[in-house]
Order: sequence, then structure tokens, then C-alpha cells
Amino acid sequence: MKIALFNENRVGIVEGSDVIDITELTKWNTEEPQSSLVKLMGEFDALRPQIEAGRGACPVYSVSDVTLRAPVPNPSKIVAAPINYILHKQEMNTALTVDALGFFLKSPSSIIGPDQTVLLPFKDRRVDHEAEIAFVVGKEAKDVKAEDASKYIFGYLALMDITVRGKEDRPWRKSFDTFTPIGPWIVTGDEVENPNNLQMNLWVNDEIRQSANTEDLIYDCFKFFEAASSVMTLLPGDIVTTGTPEGVAPITKGDTVRINIERIGEFSVQVDYKPGI
Ligand code: MN
Repeated sequence: MKIALFNENRVGIVEGSDVIDITELTKWNTEEPQSSLVKLMGEFDALRPQIEAGRGACPVYSVSDVTLRAPVPNPSKIVAAPINYILHKQEMNTALTVDALGFFLKSPSSIIGPDQTVLLPFKDRRVDHEAEIAFVVGKEAKDVKAEDASKYIFGYLALMDITVRGKEDRPWRKSFDTFTPIGPWIVTGDEVENPNNLQMNLWVNDEIRQSANTEDLIYDCFKFFEAASSVMTLLPGDIVTTGTPEGVAPITKGDTVRINIERIGEFSVQVDYKPGI
């Protein structure tokens, strides 16, 4: 199932080019989209048959006629993998990978949704796109082994980890407002099946920049879940993002950046300067 947030924080399921509005059916509170999402994930096994039974009476819109929102609007944290693909390690000319580096946190306030605008905070610093497969935690998790991780992952999404290059620590370079575009919706784990074998592409202005398969992850989604949950409790609604493959490159004002992940979907964002710089 594909779960989208749209318009004024309504919730829907996406099928083909349609979005079925299940806001009323699931008693979703549009004033509290993050806690509504956490509640929906917690009750999902019981809700799913209710959605199937009641969907015929729900309003239906065309996806192209609605405004998609960030599908996870305000997690308590975004856990992010550093160097987690060998070819990205090589292009960054760095010695260490995820097994030695651990992970870092991105600020949740950096999240934006599809078709929003990344605002560059500098005119004289390199800012790169990074295409990543990410997932949303469905159940509280601590010290979960890789083989059990799929039971705690609710669903998957595409994520751009926008990054200022330089010597500052990663949280500084990756947490500017608008630096975490996510979308286009959450695809539940059963529909994704194997997240560790998906084609992922990113284009800037229709020029392909990144093209890789998640089978090349050093720590795959489940192993990285184990590593993260060995340190901190992962809460329902948290986002975990797994790192970028090779092909990172600068973005600048006027660019359109588009990400597509097999079985998940695609979305674009625009790039502009932050007002006043
Ligand atoms: Mn990254």
C-alpha cells in the first residue's frame, strides 16, 4: 500500500494515478499529521481490512490534482548513514565507511515535500544532491537484530540528503532548512518486498547523475537498522536513511532535481537561493 499525505495534511492511498482519501475513514487528525501517522502505523494491521471495506465510499482524486506533502512530516529524528557504498567512498576519496563512522543525525526541521524548493544558504559553497533509500520506523525498537528489522520498518520512501561540502561536521552541512526532501509517499514493506535490491536514479534537469542499485549498500537497510538501534531507541515515525551511491554533484539555482526508486516512486524539487543572500 502507498500512503500519501496531501493538500491540508489529509491522508490517502495511492493506486495508479488515483489517490483515495481515507482521512475520515481512519479518523486522521489533519491538525496533527505526525501523531496521526504514528497512530495509523500502530493500528495498521487492524485498519487495513477497514480501509479495504470502506474505500468505495471515500473521495477519489487524481494524484496530479493534489499537492503531495512530506509523507513523514515531523519525526523525532532522522538517522543517516555516512559512506555506505564503495564507489561513493572512492569518489569522496575517503578512508572510512559506515562500519567505522557509525551514523549521524539530520535535523527533522530540514524536511520538505515533493515539488517544494531547496534553498541554498550560500552562493560560494558547493552543495550536492545525494539520492537515498530511506524508511520510516513503525514500532519502537532497541537492540533489534538485522534479521528482525523488517518487523519494525513500516515502509520505504525516497530521500535526498542535500549536503554542503566542506570541513564542518555532517549535521551542520546536512541540516539546513529544506535540505531533506522526502517523498513521494510511504510504500509499505510488504509491497516493497526486498528493499536491498532496488534501482535508484537521480536526474538534474533531465541529465542522469546517479544510477545505482541498493544491492550495493555496504550496510543494507536491515543491517543499518541494527547498527542504529544498538545505540538509540528508534521511535515510531522516525526516519532512517541509508546513504548515497556514487554520482554526487553540485546543484544550483534554477535546477530541478528528480529522484526515482523502483517500487517506491519518484518526485522532484526545485533549487533556489535562500532569500536575502
Ligand atoms: Mn547522505
